[in-house]
Amino acid sequence: MDYKQHIKIIEDYPTEGVQFKDITPLLQNGEVYKQAIDDLAEYVKSRNANVIAGPEARGFVLGCPIAYTLQKSFVPVRKAGKLPRPVVETHYGLEYGKASLAIHSDAIQPGDRVIITDDLLATGGTIEATIQLVEELGGAVVGCAFLIELAYIDRGEELQDYDVFSLMTYY
Ligand code: 5GP
Repeated sequence: MDYKQHIKIIEDYPTEGVQFKDITPLLQNGEVYKQAIDDLAEYVKSRNANVIAGPEARGFVLGCPIAYTLQKSFVPVRKAGKLPRPVVETHYGLEYGKASLAIHSDAIQPGDRVIITDDLLATGGTIEATIQLVEELGGAVVGCAFLIELAYIDRGEELQDYDVFSLMTYY
């Protein structure tokens, strides 16, 4: 499947110099969306994971249908202050400003094999924050699955020890 023909590149969005990858055309095509979910689900299966965790909001768009397809757990990773019960949370730096993410403390059990899903891997900040939360609860992150990976963005070495899978890479 040539997924890239279903991604629109928006110049200078949200700020000048950024080439935003818009995944909504892919989601709008039911056949392509299903194929993407099936391909990601194959990866999740190959990693023998029992939990899928996805950061809001685009991580839900992928993580939920993967979990449904495989009959596995889905764990929403939300901005701090949005979940109603006790959480673990982390605060991290973005290119401009700060962000925070949280997971319910009982959402992941020690020994769980967790895949983290999101639409796009850029600096890795979002995914690293999510990894930290999963590991704090005793889960093992057995992989990270994306639609898109941006190979031209500098990433630290934090993700080197993790298995990363994506359907598209932009260089
Ligand atoms: P990172 O934390 O890896 O720098 O950025 C990834 C997060 O920012 C993801 O949650 C993703 O949704 C969002 N993001 C950053 N750049 C883009 C982009 O070009 N397209 C889309 N769809 N999301 C982006």
